[in-house]
Amino acid sequence: MGKLLIVGSVAFDAIETPFGKTDKILGGAAPFIGLAASKFNVESAIVSVVGDDFPQKYLDLLAENNIDISAIEVVEGGKTFFWSGKYHNDLNSRDTLETQLNVLADFNPKVPENFKDAEIVMLGNLNPSVQLSVIEQMEVKPKLIVLDTMNFWMDSFLEDLMEVIAKVDVITINDEEARQLSGEYSLVKAAAKIHTMGPKYVVIKKGEHGALLFHNGNVFFAPALPLEEVFDPTGAGDTFAGGFSGYLAKTDDYSFENMKNAVIHGSNLASFNVEKFGTKRLQNLSHDEVFKRLKQFKSLTQFDIKLT
Ligand code: AMP
Repeated sequence: MGKLLIVGSVAFDAIETPFGKTDKILGGAAPFIGLAASKFNVESAIVSVVGDDFPQKYLDLLAENNIDISAIEVVEGGKTFFWSGKYHNDLNSRDTLETQLNVLADFNPKVPENFKDAEIVMLGNLNPSVQLSVIEQMEVKPKLIVLDTMNFWMDSFLEDLMEVIAKVDVITINDEEARQLSGEYSLVKAAAKIHTMGPKYVVIKKGEHGALLFHNGNVFFAPALPLEEVFDPTGAGDTFAGGFSGYLAKTDDYSFENMKNAVIHGSNLASFNVEKFGTKRLQNLSHDEVFKRLKQFKSLTQFDIKLT
């Protein structure tokens, strides 16, 4: 079992989908990652920042799920990062209505002493300069550094982001972002170009069309489970990243073969996350439910073809 260090935004989200609207609820990359990874009972910690407007009950929720929250700084008089988004009818695309960085704008992360030797570092979505600082604070070289990011950081902080990308083993991004980053429309060409920027493994997420894992000329494809109803896709990418890194931390095996399983675990947890607003579904998800759906995944993708 490896230790998992998570860095990422902790946020208030206001979400609008064709099915309803929320006021400010718990969001941000790190809570989704942490809650997903907690399904593997790994030792994990979140490095992040909130303002003193952030409810204690949200911090308690993370702590109750065995996530070390001692490195979530609370800034007196500060305002928590805020994001709002509105989904289109197909739920595959959304518009960001507002991003207020607030306390995230000048955050100086501090990695807890007992996580400076973590086997996995999961760099969730937030400022590339913060992600870089976390990498630099590690005292023992991590066995795996995974990066998740989004177009917001590509648009205005590309230079910093490229510095981070050069230092990571795995990058997980969605198809549009892979195209933006590489300048290539074909995802195969995009992955090849992103390999040259640093990451040996490139995961491209395609929403309801699954995810692709590229490594060394090999490609693995994991479908997304066809769901009857998708309620709110927010955090699906982060949940995927949490399931992916949580499973790898639990198994402490960073081979390509095992990474294929990690992609399936990530996709499995993401399929639950989209069923309710925000982190609600992850909060009330039993091991039994996770296991049953994993079996569904297996039968969905298994076939016995004769190659003669
Ligand atoms: P996802 O749906 O996986 O892209 O993740 C959505 C989450 O990312 C929301 O909970 C937001 O609070 C968070 N988020 C949105 N924009 C940013 C940003 N620029 N930096 C960090 N986190 C963000």
